Amino acid sequence: MSHLFGPVPSRRLGLSLGVDLLPFKTCTLDCVYCQLGPTTCLTLDRERRVSPAEVLSEIRTRAEAVEEGREEEFDYLTLAGSGEPLLHRGLDEIIRGAKEAVDKPVALLTNGTLFFREEVRREVLEADLIIPSLDAATAATFESVNRPHPDLSIEEVIEGLVRLRGEYSGEIWLEVMLVSGFNDSEAPLIAEAAEKIDPDRIQLNTVVRPPAEPVQPVSPVEMVGMLEVFSGAEVIAEWTRDWTREGSEESKGAKGAGALIIDLLARRPCTLEELAALTALHRNEILKYLEVLEAAGKISRLRHRGVLYFQAPDR
Ligand code: SF4
Repeated sequence: MSHLFGPVPSRRLGLSLGVDLLPFKTCTLDCVYCQLGPTTCLTLDRERRVSPAEVLSEIRTRAEAVEEGREEEFDYLTLAGSGEPLLHRGLDEIIRGAKEAVDKPVALLTNGTLFFREEVRREVLEADLIIPSLDAATAATFESVNRPHPDLSIEEVIEGLVRLRGEYSGEIWLEVMLVSGFNDSEAPLIAEAAEKIDPDRIQLNTVVRPPAEPVQPVSPVEMVGMLEVFSGAEVIAEWTRDWTREGSEESKGAKGAGALIIDLLARRPCTLEELAALTALHRNEILKYLEVLEAAGKISRLRHRGVLYFQAPDR
């Protein structure tokens, strides 16, 4: 069975070649928003789940094929997939071997729950980029949104991420998945924990792809409000047009894209890139709306530290 998948297009990583190290839904959590369905093996036991020799041989074969033009190029090699990668014992061997085999950065996509263990932190030190998640700051929210293994506590998860930051010199991009009615009201506390962790980036997401359970996303307008709560964060959610125009409460009542843009800018100045992500419109299309709104005096431009923002004038 192949352990490689993709390359798949990723907004954050460009083209990402995935490496799946775990059996399907072997995880430390059972998140309400998981797109893969319920966790079938909820565990904290780290084992050698795959043969490193087999995985590395597949990576080398793929690297050769890319070099010879028989396979598609990729930007990142990403340890991710259908289970939690930190549950594989011996990640260091795979990360080191992968870095020798490919001339691309190696990223680790993880729920970040096991970094309180020293051996786990040691095994990931050679990764170029770690993308852990943090969706809660209190035990009650951790229980409701992540439904963790009973022996995991949110305090040790946060402490583990703080320690990782102290020992790991690569980039850490912390992802926060916001789920309406589950953890959105806890955002200020999660933001406080994120500040303690001190990642290179904080990336806010919401459940825009259909999860297995009936949970609701945070709307684009609320998401812009979240940028005020999480200082220096960015939104990485990618809404579909249907959702932003018809699915949300705000957009019910046939609000057009222009009205949605004004609502978003009334909360906070946004860049073109942020507006494109929040409205699910192409940048060129957004520009057309911005021109009309600007000419009508409904929005204006603002340059801050060399970055161009659009804002509602009476904000
Ligand atoms: S951590 Fe990831 S794989 Fe595990 S349950 Fe949550 S979303 Fe699914």
